[in-house]
Parts: sequence; structure tokens; C-alpha cells
Amino acid sequence: MSLSEKTIHELTRYGRRKLGDHAKSPSGYPLIDNPELEVDILLGYVLEKPRSYLLAHPQHEVTLPEFKHFEKLIEQRASGCPIAYITGEKEFWSLPLQVTSDTLIPRPETELLVEKTLDFIQTITKPVIADLGTGSGAIAIAVAHECRQAQVIAIDNSLAALTISQQNANRLNVNNCWFINSHWCDSLKSESLDLLVSNPPYVANDDPHWQQTDIRFEPRSALLAGHAGMDAINYLIKHAKRVLKPGACILIEHGYDQQAQVKAAFSAQSYHNIKGFKDFSGIDRVCIAHK
Ligand code: GLN
Repeated sequence: MSLSEKTIHELTRYGRRKLGDHAKSPSGYPLIDNPELEVDILLGYVLEKPRSYLLAHPQHEVTLPEFKHFEKLIEQRASGCPIAYITGEKEFWSLPLQVTSDTLIPRPETELLVEKTLDFIQTITKPVIADLGTGSGAIAIAVAHECRQAQVIAIDNSLAALTISQQNANRLNVNNCWFINSHWCDSLKSESLDLLVSNPPYVANDDPHWQQTDIRFEPRSALLAGHAGMDAINYLIKHAKRVLKPGACILIEHGYDQQAQVKAAFSAQSYHNIKGFKDFSGIDRVCIAHK
């Protein structure tokens, strides 16, 4: 981009051209659904202004450092880096969460786990809940924020992820959430939980999809789970029983084609009231079972 292009209007046009071309690239990956929105997010981030400001002030002239910064971020996005990793933030359950390349970017469909968790704990006084593989803390923090009397234990094997989730809880003044570094539920006491919730890794190791899309920037440990993508889910289903109180509930997110396998794994471990749910796109997404 030439140095003469330095108004908001010109930068916006430049960004749209770069990201728009990219969206149409013959290689097909990664596609950018909405270049207009993403350009505004990145320019707003650089200028520290809301989108409304960009729209209202197209002739605002940016400084040279702002211009260089924006150009760099557009390059990063054009190379496929997810926008949430560039700005370091993603909204989940209407809460602004910090994310880094050590955490999965929370997906809107994962809000279904929060909804179902809140439904189940409605009638329990001071429910004790664990979120396994918490990552950015999205599920744990949303539940703890929504239900202040709940005690939420957020667990992750990654210390780097736990640092982020703990900071998210602090920034959002959520103080009914505790963070523990552990392998799944191994460090939890027997029969201590009213509910266990998890969005574990469930992508098959050789699934070509994750390598060809922006997902490749996300931590493999949060995505990949063996040749059928079922390793973590099977481990959880087998070991969760020990830590659940009698009658307690377990909710697991899974891949679009895994619901039958997840239900079968629950049955094989003698759970009951096993149910599957679809997300807002009509895709099988969550399984619930009871001890
Ligand atoms: N839903 C994620 C995807 O888009 C996978 C997340 C996970 O493995 N838990 O592939």
C-alpha cells in the first residue's frame, strides 16, 4: 500500500481488497466469510475506535505507525491467522475473553454446553461443577458468571492455557471458579461433582480439514484425539463415573458424526438417561448422560 493511502476510507478499501482477494483464492483455504467486518475489526483495533467511528469518519487520517500496524495485521489475517488470535479476544456467552495460541478459540456452538449445564443445576443448591480441558475458561467462566452460587473447578493439562483462563476470570470478576492443572479428572475426589462438562478434543488425527483451514493455528492438543477423534471422549466417559455423585450429570461436546459412538460409550459404562442434542445449525453436538 502506498503512503498516500492514509484515510480510514482508503485503508478500509485496501484491507477489503486484500482479504476479499484472499477469500476468493483458487486454493480455497482459508476462506474469509466477511472481509468487510474483519477489516473494520482490525482497523478499529489499531485505532482503538469502535466500528461506528470508522463509518462516521471516513476522512480521518491515520498516523504512519497506525498505517504500518494495520498493514501488518491485514497480512497476518490474509495468511490465515484467525482474527481472535490477532486481536487477542473472542466473545463467548456475551463475555469478552482473552485468547492466545495456547487456547482454542471458543465457538458459538459450545454455548449449548453452557445452556444445558445451567438447565441441570437450576434445582441444585451450591452445585459443584468441573469443566475439563477449560482452555480459555469459556465454559467454566460463563457458568460461574451466570450462577454465582455454583462452585466451578476449571481444569486443564496446559499451564499456559490455565494462565489465560485465570486472567479471564479475574478480569470479569468471577470469583467462584478455581483453576487446577491436571490430566482430565484424575485429581478430583471421588463422588465430588454434581456435574461434569467438557469440550474435549475430538478431531481425528488424520482429518484433512483442520490442516487446510484456519483451525491449523489452534493448539493441536485441544483439537486432535486419536485416529477416530474419540480418545479423549472415551477416557472421560470411563473415568468421570468415579468423580460424579450418584445421579450427577455429564455433558460432552462431540463432532458432527460422533453422537452414536458417544451414546454407545455411555451405555457401555452403564450411564443412564443418555440424550443427544443438536446445535443451532442443526448439527449433532452434545451428549448428556447421568450416573
Ligand atoms: N469444534 C472444533 C472444530 O471446529 C473442534 C473443537 C474440539 O475438538 N473440541 O473443529
